[in-house]
Amino acid sequence: MALAAYASHPAASRGRRYPEPPAPTRDAFQRDRDRIVHSTAFRRLVYKTQVFLNHEGDLFRTRMTHSLEVAQLGRSIARALALNEDLVEAVALAHDLGHTPFGHAGQDALNDCMADHGGFEHNLQSLRVVDELEHRYPQYDGLNLSFETREGILKHCSRANAQRLEQREPGGVGRRFLDRMQPGLEAQLCNLADEIAYNAHDIDDGVRSGLIGIEQLADVELFDRFRREAVAEYPALDGRRLLYETIRRMLSAQVYDVIDATRAAIDAGAPAHADAVRAAAPMVCFSPSMREQSQALKRFLFANLYRHPRVAQTTGQAQDVVRALFLAYRDNPSEMPPAYACQQDRHRAVADYIAGMTDRFAMREHLRLTGRPWVE
Ligand code: MG
Repeated sequence: MALAAYASHPAASRGRRYPEPPAPTRDAFQRDRDRIVHSTAFRRLVYKTQVFLNHEGDLFRTRMTHSLEVAQLGRSIARALALNEDLVEAVALAHDLGHTPFGHAGQDALNDCMADHGGFEHNLQSLRVVDELEHRYPQYDGLNLSFETREGILKHCSRANAQRLEQREPGGVGRRFLDRMQPGLEAQLCNLADEIAYNAHDIDDGVRSGLIGIEQLADVELFDRFRREAVAEYPALDGRRLLYETIRRMLSAQVYDVIDATRAAIDAGAPAHADAVRAAAPMVCFSPSMREQSQALKRFLFANLYRHPRVAQTTGQAQDVVRALFLAYRDNPSEMPPAYACQQDRHRAVADYIAGMTDRFAMREHLRLTGRPWVE
């Protein structure tokens, strides 16, 4: 299908930091997507925690399966709005590359450790991975992705970090945070697809883990409406099939809602091209009522899953591991591989090394360096 005028057109890309001749059979964003899929950081996502620790069960989401689900939802919505599906896929597959082991617990601990050294923020780290930390190509560090893909990866950024980025790359991906502008529609879409994906799969994983029950979800309108609808149509439906059918209907409803609400916003703003989108208010959105229902689901998950005592217990342990690793490498950089040990900015090198770890590698290193095993 032809791209809309307001979509990101690969031929109009603002290009790569190191200019390269075009590929013969792929456009710029397809090539970005392929580079991401072949990266080391992407493969590590298989063994990184989303909410439940990787070793707790084979069926829980990992950062990898989460990223694939974000790409699927994003592409579906992009297709309906004539946005660039390949760019959406590239951003979705890369959006969590900078996540530490052990999910948000790991990120919070690393951020604490780095408090006096510039902090640690996973969005900025995702950009750092694709800009600097992947070492695959002879001519440059990083994956040398297109501006639009990098713009989408840098979802949030503090003003201080945006200023630092702007110094290194004037008019680059940090600029919009200083000018308070929006990214292109594909980037806006990945943001919302991320939220739709984790709200839905955290229900599934939460129920699978036994930490939340389907009865508790009766209080959540977005869930209960579709559970009742499914039961009305299939009265004998229960157990996992009822859960899946409810989540399936929930996902569809949110996808159609985003398509309708965004189409209305695009019609109202009538952006003539992608740069007009950047100068306007955000356009990819839920309807007000779906926004409210999605927030209510999020509040439910916070109260009943993310802050569940069993999750909190592993969270505490994960933070201890990250802190212990940080101190061990900081005090003995030679415990890290030479590429990290030789860096001038020791704290940043330690943060980069730890952030790149999978859950199980971090546990192994913790055991090696402290003699303390992970206790279930
Ligand atoms: Mg995500």
